[in-house]
Amino acid sequence: MSATRVLVLNSGSSSVKYQLLDMSDGSRLAAGLVERIGEESSRLKHSPLATGGENRESEGRIADHEAALKAVAEELSRDGLGLDSPELAAIGHRVVHGGRKFTRPTVVDDAVLAEIERLIPVAPLHNPANLTGIRTAQALRPDLPQVAVFDTAFHTTMPESAARYAIDVKTADEHRIRRYGFHGTSHAYVSRKAAELLGRAPEDVNVIVLHLGNGASASAVEGGRCVDTSMGLTPLEGLVMGTRSGDVDPAVIFHLMRVGEMSTDEIDTLLNKKSGLLGLCGDNDMREIRRRIDGGGADASPAQLAFDIYIHRLKKYIGAYYAVLGRVDAVVFTAGVGENAAPVREAAIAGLDALGLAVDGGLNAVRSDAPRLISPEGARVAVAVVPTDEELEIAHQTYALVQDGNAGAA
Ligand code: ADP
Repeated sequence: MSATRVLVLNSGSSSVKYQLLDMSDGSRLAAGLVERIGEESSRLKHSPLATGGENRESEGRIADHEAALKAVAEELSRDGLGLDSPELAAIGHRVVHGGRKFTRPTVVDDAVLAEIERLIPVAPLHNPANLTGIRTAQALRPDLPQVAVFDTAFHTTMPESAARYAIDVKTADEHRIRRYGFHGTSHAYVSRKAAELLGRAPEDVNVIVLHLGNGASASAVEGGRCVDTSMGLTPLEGLVMGTRSGDVDPAVIFHLMRVGEMSTDEIDTLLNKKSGLLGLCGDNDMREIRRRIDGGGADASPAQLAFDIYIHRLKKYIGAYYAVLGRVDAVVFTAGVGENAAPVREAAIAGLDALGLAVDGGLNAVRSDAPRLISPEGARVAVAVVPTDEELEIAHQTYALVQDGNAGAA
């Protein structure tokens, strides 16, 4: 029997998310999460999807990523799905920053590891954790192909006109400052699924993808290739997010340094962790913001303002990417907010009739896990909701690479 299983690992600084998939039919065999690695109260949650058993949860110190992966391997073994199984074809790793070099999923070797390490200065929070995840998995199964799937890869097709900031070229190049974009795996998956929903080939379709989760980004996808995206050197640029500001005048930073006497780290924390919806109204969860607005009273007005700023920015990006693409076939909402928050979709599209964009109230109110149209029948431009599935996409890309027989190559 050929090996058809792929383990997907998403290693963060203090967490590891994982899914085991069977690529013969795309089914999920197990999924889980290790949180608070390195703390006394580490927690492992495991869903044995294949056996249909009860979810398992355990608490207690898990010292580091190596211990975390070993704990995951043990949980999988309990379901008869251990990492030593000959049915495991590869391990696919989410890697946040692949710079300009990695334009596609890549089988990991020493040179690849060195390059991911070289990119740490532009992704100090993410790449070290991703590297640790890969190295630990290599130690557990040295014979197995480890595949790196990069968040930035889908955006490497952006033209220089979109990827460069208008700053001194020499300085920019010296420090590798350019717009890389993130959430690429999601944008790739969702834009392809949107073409499928329209019954057309991805090469024939122009799509604006709005990935609205806690982090949020928009992208303009022309015939399956990304031509612009809202995140830049880091995931801070662009849309208003749960806790990130998105676009601000860069001079805000000088002002806070000179007049506000804040340090670089304080400003970093302010813009990344204390801004966005949270900074505007004290809540970063769109459900809570909608509850406050719907509840009325004094609590409603900061929530309403946060909502309005969020929507205003979203509309600006829809308009901008419409202009970048020239012709748009679909505007697609995805991720936690995009998939679930009908009021966000309604407000973001409201008033854009002149662009051929409209939302049908009845269709927009339907809750479903399936990709679906929410524009009125016969609309010039489709508006759609397409649930994202980054793990499935990572598994697909990993499996395709291993199947190609490239697994031994760099
Ligand atoms: P990430 O992967 O970036 O952490 P998700 O894509 O899972 O985020 O999105 C999480 C966010 O989705 C939550 O913070 C919340 O704002 C929003 N969300 C989730 N469910 C709903 C819902 N039913 N209605 C409105 N917003 C929702």
